[in-house]
Amino acid sequence: MTLQAPTHISNYIGGNFQAPLSGKYIDNINPATGEVYGQIPDSNEQDVQAAYEAAAAAFPAWSKTSAEERFKVLNRIAELIDANLDSLALAETNDNGKPLWLSMNVDIPRASSNFRFFATGLIHFSTDSHHMEDKAINYTLRQPIGVVGCISPWNLPLYLFTWKIAPALATGNCVVAKPSEVTPMTSYLLSVICKEAGLPDGVLNIIHGAGPNCGSAIVKHPNIKAISFTGSTRAGKDIASIAAPMFKKISLELGGKNPNIIFDDCNWEKMMRTTVQSSFANQGQICLCGSRILIQETIYEKFKEEFIAKVKKLTVGDPLNEASKQGAVVSKLHFDKVMSCIELAKQEGGRILLGGNAIHPEERCVNGYFIEPTIIEGLGANCRTNMEEIFGPVVTLQSFKTEEEALALANASDYGLSATIWTQDITRANRIAAKVYSGIIWVNCWLLRDLRTPFGGFKNSGVGREGGWEAMRFFTEPKNVCIEL
Ligand code: NAD
Repeated sequence: MTLQAPTHISNYIGGNFQAPLSGKYIDNINPATGEVYGQIPDSNEQDVQAAYEAAAAAFPAWSKTSAEERFKVLNRIAELIDANLDSLALAETNDNGKPLWLSMNVDIPRASSNFRFFATGLIHFSTDSHHMEDKAINYTLRQPIGVVGCISPWNLPLYLFTWKIAPALATGNCVVAKPSEVTPMTSYLLSVICKEAGLPDGVLNIIHGAGPNCGSAIVKHPNIKAISFTGSTRAGKDIASIAAPMFKKISLELGGKNPNIIFDDCNWEKMMRTTVQSSFANQGQICLCGSRILIQETIYEKFKEEFIAKVKKLTVGDPLNEASKQGAVVSKLHFDKVMSCIELAKQEGGRILLGGNAIHPEERCVNGYFIEPTIIEGLGANCRTNMEEIFGPVVTLQSFKTEEEALALANASDYGLSATIWTQDITRANRIAAKVYSGIIWVNCWLLRDLRTPFGGFKNSGVGREGGWEAMRFFTEPKNVCIEL
């Protein structure tokens, strides 16, 4: 098969590629050029209802399909993603603005890994048994929930979409899924792949549209019993307020404002190289980016000087150009938000050490949404710049004297997604790792991911965990069966 990104994309419902029932579309914009290059369905609750009906009709057969059969079809999807790496990566870059080399090396390979990982997981998934001496045996059944909803954001489009869909399908559920309306193309292409791979019709339904119309109709649907959501804390709060009184299972992976804690005994070279990445990878639009850099006072000036010099070398430009280390931010709306955050930082007394401006690369990207990697210092822990998620190429520097001060700064945020600790003193690293209120801690590394580990955040960064058995458990209902002996 040859995958091609069309200009008009369709919903995928019950195995059919169909237009939104309202006939309405939303513009799809390439953020690197600022040009409209396609149309996506502006779906509403009627499309969600149709998707639900298709999923409910497919559920009895899919939930009884043998583990071996589910394994085979999910693996076929992984193989087809790999076989179409080039077209998927190009589609991701055109939709999102990220450098093509990043889509080729990270986003798309990770999407096939997600399918392969959960395909393998499903044939190893087992449940508990509790023996009450000579009185009874309990065993736990884990049954699929039924029809579940998966809603994902724009920053790692296919990567995060498949991170939800794969475990939901692996555990025998049928899915109504919605990618971000800002980056819909690779999930549309995934629907073409699923059809080709032989995933039975209705098992996965992918509908496109905006959050308030389409996303919220999935959340409100009385028979969609679980919602796995990744996105902003604001939308997570709305979703929780709707889903909680309906007693739906929810998994919420939300925002972050992650500390990157650097002690003076760190491995300098590795810390510096990794900190440039953890600050600005994907234009700073990774929920795990370390946007608050906390540096021990003894090395603050040295760090600042070398960090600025290194970040200056990050070429910002056309994402299709191999030399571009940074591409465009995802949309005009997001560009305006990030620029207003930089303005706010100035008003709060922040000193812009580097960047702070929009960039207009030449030729086809002159109207794109590009922002210079920006480094700010001189702000306290409790100002809005250091409390609110910016989700762009912007970091702040703060200094600390002692371990206690570092911990207080790290924990000053309302978020608690991830943290990075740089020190050669392993006892100190373990001590701090235990005391930082974050779901994911990296010591002397960043973004090193083992898909078996629990993934998710404390505080306003979310509820529940994804990854490994956590995801398989989320998408199943445990049922205890007690047999008296
Ligand atoms: P967003 O919340 O605006 O949108 C995410 C998805 O939810 C989109 O598909 C959107 O259409 C939909 N949506 C929006 N409002 C909704 C509502 N009321 N009901 C149902 N669906 C709704 O987020 P975004 O701007 O696409 O993504 C950026 C955010 O995602 C950042 O805050 C980032 O930190 C977060 N994020 C978190 C993780 C994580 O694992 N914790 C990973 C990636 C991104």
